[in-house]
Amino acid sequence: MLKAFVLRLFSLLLSLFPLVLQAADNISVLGSKPRWDILEHYQETITHDEFANLINGVYCTHGFAPDLIEINDKSARILMNRDAQKSFTLRFCADAAPRKPVPRLWRPAKSLPPASGKKPLSGLKVALDPGHLGGKWAKMEERWFQVADSKPVQEGDLTLRVARFLASRLRKLGANVSFVRNSDEPTTSKRPGDFRDLARKILIKNGVPQPRPDVLDPNDPAKEQTIRWQSEILFYRYSEIRRRAARVNFKLHPDLVLCLHLNAEGWGDPNSPTLTDINHLHLLVNGSYLAEELEFDDERFEMVRRLLSRAYGEELPLADTIALAMARETGLPPYAYPTTNSTTRVGTSGYVYARNLLATRLFHCPVVYCEPYVMNSKDVSARIQAGDYEGTRTVNGVERKSIFREYADSVAEGLVNYYSKARGGSHSPNAMSQTAPRRSNY
Ligand SMILES: [Zn+2]
Repeated sequence: MLKAFVLRLFSLLLSLFPLVLQAADNISVLGSKPRWDILEHYQETITHDEFANLINGVYCTHGFAPDLIEINDKSARILMNRDAQKSFTLRFCADAAPRKPVPRLWRPAKSLPPASGKKPLSGLKVALDPGHLGGKWAKMEERWFQVADSKPVQEGDLTLRVARFLASRLRKLGANVSFVRNSDEPTTSKRPGDFRDLARKILIKNGVPQPRPDVLDPNDPAKEQTIRWQSEILFYRYSEIRRRAARVNFKLHPDLVLCLHLNAEGWGDPNSPTLTDINHLHLLVNGSYLAEELEFDDERFEMVRRLLSRAYGEELPLADTIALAMARETGLPPYAYPTTNSTTRVGTSGYVYARNLLATRLFHCPVVYCEPYVMNSKDVSARIQAGDYEGTRTVNGVERKSIFREYADSVAEGLVNYYSKARGGSHSPNAMSQTAPRRSNY
């Protein structure tokens, strides 16, 4: 008994001792140490009520450990690191006091000069982020399926194609458009082989003491416990999106990032995918952090920084406006998440959710993340196979535009509607009509 107690005490001391000298960083996968000093620039830029409403209604809708954020009358205390027991104190601006300006590199629509009716997006800097990689990477990303001997469907190729259509439309409307990705090659210089050691460590930490190196059967769910699968996802998701964020934040400096994706329902075997009648649309903005995500020092810091930048005040009405234009053009119903575990419905359109994705969190500007179309629905699958064409054609029994043009046109229309109104310029009445989404045969 005594021996056991001594041993336990000894191991307790061992685990505590190094922490006294240097607090352990608690950082998410491939994340970097938070620069809390940056938040000094946001002192007295937000009132108590604004801060509390954003925390409770947008960012921390799933709750959080009580020691992480403490909201008092005049300030909020945010834990920087639990082991070190160090906190950052954010001083609120008094309700009646003049606000200090919010430091940010992006410009809200209202601060852009009024625009002409023909160029409602003049001067706006938009970065397009076509989701995933496509090309030879699509199978690795698990964004690939093939129906019989038809052309394989690769999400990363579809999103890039949409982005190129969208870029030309936005440029005609006066926007300054850049691409976060404009090829089917990765933005990151890393490759899966660079992450094998890290993959092994992550697996061991997650209770797989002797991880297998390779996937033996691609349909085996245990494949996620192999070093190959983990090192691949570290490459194509974590490293790639963090690299895109560096490009957006330090090079492109846009006023807005549009992340372009197509959705899917579970398709099972990619060589014999399940086709479904289900089809839907939704858009995402950043928020709805999980309690366990807020435990990471970097994610908590990024959440507070994003909140203080007020990106939400811009991205939410923008997402709602784009959603209505997309709903009208595509006729798609809103997606309903099967659970509310990771998302929170926000806004007024019924199509927008808050969710903490890497891309919605890491880009330092408003981000609207579009998820229209279920790729493995019978209808969308037929439209993808029909490819691009001018004008309209009958596909799967309905006459309509090519899916690429429909996607690009509807996003462009949403931007025109939002910026025309916010900038106070004149514009065609048709572009502003906010009628209910048209019902169609979905
Ligand atoms: Zn996607």
